[in-house]
Amino acid sequence: MPALPAELAGGRLTIDLGALADNWKTLAALGKSAECGAVVKGNGYGIGLGAAVETLLAAGCRTFFVALPEEGLKARAVAPHADIYVLGGLFEDAAPLLSDANLRPVLGSRAEVDDWARFCRVGGTPRPCAIHVDTGMNRLGLSLRDANGLGAEPELLASIKPSLLMSHFACADTPDHPLNARQIERFTDIRQLFADIPASFSNSAATLAFPQTHLDVMRPGVALYGGRALATGGNPMKPVVTLEARIIQVRDADAGDTIGYGATETVRRKSRIAILAAGYADGYLRRAGSTDERGGARVAIKGHMAPLIGRVSMDLIAVDVTDLPAGIAARGAWAELFGKTIPIDEVADHADTIGYELLTGLGQRYQRIYVGEG
Ligand SMILES: *Cc1c(COP(=O)(O)O)cnc(C)c1O
Repeated sequence: MPALPAELAGGRLTIDLGALADNWKTLAALGKSAECGAVVKGNGYGIGLGAAVETLLAAGCRTFFVALPEEGLKARAVAPHADIYVLGGLFEDAAPLLSDANLRPVLGSRAEVDDWARFCRVGGTPRPCAIHVDTGMNRLGLSLRDANGLGAEPELLASIKPSLLMSHFACADTPDHPLNARQIERFTDIRQLFADIPASFSNSAATLAFPQTHLDVMRPGVALYGGRALATGGNPMKPVVTLEARIIQVRDADAGDTIGYGATETVRRKSRIAILAAGYADGYLRRAGSTDERGGARVAIKGHMAPLIGRVSMDLIAVDVTDLPAGIAARGAWAELFGKTIPIDEVADHADTIGYELLTGLGQRYQRIYVGEG
């Protein structure tokens, strides 16, 4: 995509690849003897899969996880020698394509195991793959019963030679949730059956909260990109993504006026309203807006906080700048929607969602700026 001239952009997205590399190093250091992989699905949590893989590779990462075969091919183009696992598993007839690109399916059902084994037998050699065992998520993964069955079939296992045994947490963001302990217990039991296969369990939250689940390969995603992995407590990661929108006009409103679609918010005093050139078409969530009953998210203008007022439109956001010192909120100035000043998860909280959704939903109209490379 050709670079968008700054004066034409309504929003600008700054992606700090140095912070991404630092976050990976921070998590890798927590791992002690465990290897730190990286989840780069969802277009690298919105920052660009190629840029994410390139940066993490330079930082020392050697194992990547994507959701889809298509993402695997993109990662492979940047990382010719890395181990790349496809979490979505083995889609029908995808085995030759995966194998040609040296991508490793994460086999998540007995049917997938059988298909991969058949493919390996035809080719005459085992091809690396992962076995995913479900320990309580009930999404992907062999049931405990099927995993036990597979553990009792050494010939079948030898025909596929899994390079990783994995499971996935349902509630690691809430460390006190009782399901965590049950999942840890179940995976500990299952590992006994596959004792010589390296194991991978921890997503970002478990990497931070459960060191005993680091095992051989950690699988953090959101924390690499600066998102909050644990539902409560501080976020130790550096922000990676900063989204700003240009102020395209500042206008006056009188007490009693309403602002924007649906007239959801009435101003109570003579006010100054700044209009920003970004909206939900850019992935800034409509739900982050405000009504008379419910406060919205905030933006930061040159370090000064200003609350959203009224609904978020497709292309525009209104912000109450009445309390800002004169001259701060001026036409042409930039307002931070989230980033180094306003945590992305603060905006997500206002929109009743999580930082992941904001990151992966970032729009395509911004001027994208990558900083801190290599
Ligand atoms: C997305 C995903 C991860 C990473 O989760 P985060 O919460 O972003 O750290 C790890 N493992 C699996 C199987 C996933 O689907």
